[in-house]
Amino acid sequence: MIKLHNCYADTQYCLTHLVAVIFFAVGLLTRSLRVSVREGLNSSGTRTSQYAGFRFIQDEAFASDQTNQCLLDPVTFDPQGETCHFDYARQSGARLSIKNSGVDYITRSSQQDSLAIWTRGLRHSSFEESFIPESCPADTEPFPVITFGAGISSDEAYTIAHGYGVTHFCGTVNAIGTSGCWLLNRGHGVMPGSFTVVPPVGKIRIANKCSNPDLFWALHGAGGGAFGVTIDSTHPTEPEKSLTTMHSWALQGWGGPSTPNFSMFVNDKVSNNEAKKALAPALDFVRVQNGSIDVRTYKNFYQFYTDNMNGKFATPMTISGTIATTTRIVPEDHFLDVEARERMVDAIMDTQAAGLPTAFLTTMPLFYGRNNPEPNTSLHPAWYKSVWLVANSVQWTATSSIKERKQIVSMLKNATAMWKEVIPDGCTYANEADLWEDNWAYESWGDNSEKLLEVKGSVDPDNLLSCRHCVGWEESLPGYECMSGLDV
Ligand SMILES: Cc1cc2nc3c(=O)[nH]c(=O)nc-3n(C[C@H](O)[C@H](O)[C@H](O)COP(=O)(O)OP(=O)(O)OC[C@H]3O[C@@H](n4cnc5c(N)ncnc54)[C@H](O)[C@@H]3O)c2cc1C
Repeated sequence: MIKLHNCYADTQYCLTHLVAVIFFAVGLLTRSLRVSVREGLNSSGTRTSQYAGFRFIQDEAFASDQTNQCLLDPVTFDPQGETCHFDYARQSGARLSIKNSGVDYITRSSQQDSLAIWTRGLRHSSFEESFIPESCPADTEPFPVITFGAGISSDEAYTIAHGYGVTHFCGTVNAIGTSGCWLLNRGHGVMPGSFTVVPPVGKIRIANKCSNPDLFWALHGAGGGAFGVTIDSTHPTEPEKSLTTMHSWALQGWGGPSTPNFSMFVNDKVSNNEAKKALAPALDFVRVQNGSIDVRTYKNFYQFYTDNMNGKFATPMTISGTIATTTRIVPEDHFLDVEARERMVDAIMDTQAAGLPTAFLTTMPLFYGRNNPEPNTSLHPAWYKSVWLVANSVQWTATSSIKERKQIVSMLKNATAMWKEVIPDGCTYANEADLWEDNWAYESWGDNSEKLLEVKGSVDPDNLLSCRHCVGWEESLPGYECMSGLDV
């Protein structure tokens, strides 16, 4: 006020101050806007809570063609009736897409010019002590289950399960949908007991081992949006118990992520002392390398998750760049044969030297496969004989030229080809597979691919639900040129 008054005497002085004050104010405002925009960009929640928020925007950001920016410009409306979008698509010829969290590496949750279905609003959850899947015989042994609506994220699922005093396992990154593609393409975790699904043909269905068993089998390993919209999923669960963190360990129940210089193994079957004894060779090796070791017991999985995973090992997801991955699932015979093991080590060293970060996940269902020789899933059978999933990734930014992107894609394809040669009896994890792999169906589901097409034909004869590398997808379908164009 005082300055404003003074300014009548010295207009120039006043203007300078006014301008300074306005700039300062605008600066503060812009800074706080920048901070909140930056926080929003780094928070998976901000994006998963609105339709237009996707983790990977390469489909939109002129991935291969600067004259076609493949932009998504969504208009939203509430559906009237559970199958109206299928009826509309059938009559109008519109393509359909389904989004849950929108974190898919292969960008299957969005499609230019599609009618989008967004499942985030399905927020129900419940716990049942004695569950018998629908249509199963009355003398079926009941088991405890937890059910999550399709809109519940993995972070929410961990918290809900902990609230009931039970354990649930799903993706490490908090935004991933518990009933979305993580589950449908059989991400690492517990086998679900039942799905509620709306397929393009007919009404809402319950799919489990007794009711619609073929659909259950297909959803359970090759589901990613190809067979219907999942409304919720029901998972067997068990009471929380303590676990020790820190492989034959895989068969002793050890599992967890590793990189070339870090490993985190977790087991709920051993005490702290038993852990130290079982892992002694690895611990001794780390000591000789002057590395550090921490063997701890956690009260339950939830405590381990909140202390180590959420926001820590699994860091918040930013959208500043594109990440493309390739994965190889490694059967145990490659660990038992010295020459095969050496070939694998050479492959890891080669990919590292080529600048592709490598991660290893000892989260494969080898232990489960030993006790269940015929698991009821549509996954490639190699999963159940495997110890490791090896993952490589490449990245580019919004400012990378198309030439650079093509070179990066070519590096990833070389890594995929190399892993196929080194581990010919392996396969890939469909959620983290090479987006440019030609033999994608066989690499994901092996000989199950044929039966999967039959199930697809029975629930979606008009192929209304189509997404890249989903059962029934063809590269010649419109809308996929943005990413395909980077394959040289
Ligand atoms: C940073 C990061 C970390 C990851 N960590 C892990 C991990 O720890 N473990 C793991 O196993 N995987 C992990 N993944 C892979 C993850 O499981 C996949 O990205 C998966 O596609 C996410 O599923 P979503 O449904 O949340 O994603 P969305 O992008 O929403 O959907 C992906 C696909 O599923 C379909 N879909 C989604 N919801 C439904 C529904 N309700 N009904 C029918 N179809 C649906 C969509 O149409 C689309 O085809 C990770 C991915 C990222 C980006």
